[in-house]
Amino acid sequence: MKTPSSNSINGKLLSRAVLVLNANYAPMMVCTAKRAICMEYLDKVDILANYNDKIHSPTITYDLPSVIKIKDYVRYDNLSVDLNRKNVIARDEHICQYCGISKIPLTIDHVTPKGRGGIDSWENLVAACKPCNQKKGDRMPDEVGMALKRNPKRPNRLYYFQRFVKEQQKDWYPYLFMEPFRVN
Ligand SMILES: [Zn+2]
Repeated sequence: MKTPSSNSINGKLLSRAVLVLNANYAPMMVCTAKRAICMEYLDKVDILANYNDKIHSPTITYDLPSVIKIKDYVRYDNLSVDLNRKNVIARDEHICQYCGISKIPLTIDHVTPKGRGGIDSWENLVAACKPCNQKKGDRMPDEVGMALKRNPKRPNRLYYFQRFVKEQQKDWYPYLFMEPFRVN
């Protein structure tokens, strides 16, 4: 396969997010358009939807894939999202869960402090700006007159995919059980 010329426009398009579905249409992962085109070339996937953009090489024009489906079912048990700093902040939409400010850098706060038996869990970790984290210190939120914007919960896999969805990804909605035009 002749790879498309690597000018910056193509490069940007080739890094566009592509939704990968298992053979049974269950969302599996998000990959780059470059990887999706390679998988298509190897006849491993069906293209279900394309973006409006096209990739131009000197000789060929490719449709830029948006949703692809793997031809052979893949056993895939990992339906949970890893608990780590990046994913907690992503779940909280980069917003301090105490004051609502969207400021970088955000820290991770233990709602029930570690010193009081608070553990590392989806229900006990939230994104917090530095001032809020310092103000709260080793106390419970209500002891310092602070309240969480919402109850922290374990995100499901669909939530992970929905984070990638912007206006351009309209074709993803039906596969992620999203209502049209209700993009977060
Ligand atoms: Zn804050």
